Amino acid sequence: MKSKHANIAFFVPHAGCPHSCSFCNQKQISGQHEALTVEMIIKTLKDIKPDLLRARRTELAFFGGSFTAIERDKMTAYLEAANKFKNSHIFEGIRISTRPDAISDEILELLKRYNVTSIELGAQSTDDTVLAFNQRGHTARDIREASHKVKNYGFSLGLQMMTGLYKSTIESDIKTCEEIIALKPDTVRIYPTVIIKGTRLDELYRSGEYTVQTLPGAVSLCARLLRMFYDAGIRVIRLGLHSGGAVEEGYTAGPYHPAFGELCESRLYLDSAFEKLYLLPKGQYTIFVEETQVSKMIGQKRMNIDLLKREGYNCTVKGKSAVARYETEIEKKRNGETDVFKVIGNARV
Ligand code: SF4
Repeated sequence: MKSKHANIAFFVPHAGCPHSCSFCNQKQISGQHEALTVEMIIKTLKDIKPDLLRARRTELAFFGGSFTAIERDKMTAYLEAANKFKNSHIFEGIRISTRPDAISDEILELLKRYNVTSIELGAQSTDDTVLAFNQRGHTARDIREASHKVKNYGFSLGLQMMTGLYKSTIESDIKTCEEIIALKPDTVRIYPTVIIKGTRLDELYRSGEYTVQTLPGAVSLCARLLRMFYDAGIRVIRLGLHSGGAVEEGYTAGPYHPAFGELCESRLYLDSAFEKLYLLPKGQYTIFVEETQVSKMIGQKRMNIDLLKREGYNCTVKGKSAVARYETEIEKKRNGETDVFKVIGNARV
């Protein structure tokens, strides 16, 4: 069975978009100033060696912009170009991302005909005040209606949310998370707001009207959201903007980090370990986590281990298959032994 997922991604920068969202300078984010052409799609797909993708579930993805709002001829030309390769085994489905108010029965029927399988909606927030102040041009009701339609037509539904938007609060971001969970998407992407040069947010930030999230603040909030989605059985497929492209050159402020998702996961492990350790006497402990998660418990540059050490807990980390994702089990070491007592949850055994 293919386990890893990959996208063959094409960016459609700002094409056809009549809006001017406060955070968006689509050309900067995609790192591509040239308009996407049918020839580019065909050349890219012709050059792909199916062997390279054998171990991956691959989707062809049209990201950026507002795919279903671009000129109809252009959109169908892109989809036709992709469909020429549908029997080539290069990709298993087509994924598009668009705005919630650019979804209708007619569009969904057209996307079905062109073998689109997944639709991601840029929800960003379910708070109408936040949506309005960030010039999104759609409402929370549009998000709900489009999400229901996408699911009713049998597409996989993805929803994207942002934290730290102009006029948002920690509470409104958590409420957005709860409302997205209620819509039962298959996947979610979470983007802490980063200020890109040339955007409305950039102006608001420079004038002092808008305060951007700090990196620790964004990590703390996004870790909490990650846990909420995880507990609801919803896969978070992206946390933070992709590195590369032109983001590093184009951002002026905000909680950008090339490994933002890993920082959030490490934070969940730190919280899990610490809420057990602080009930225990200072000393030496072994922290057990799921086998693939040892480096996340340790943290980047041993951040978590160093922090626990400063609190008086000298810890080593080991993998154990029985431990659930984002959970920890803790054993106290005494004279090199590990059987003095064990903590599961918050109760000493
Ligand atoms: S709708 Fe999308 S492409 Fe258009 S301005 Fe907003 S974020 Fe950018």
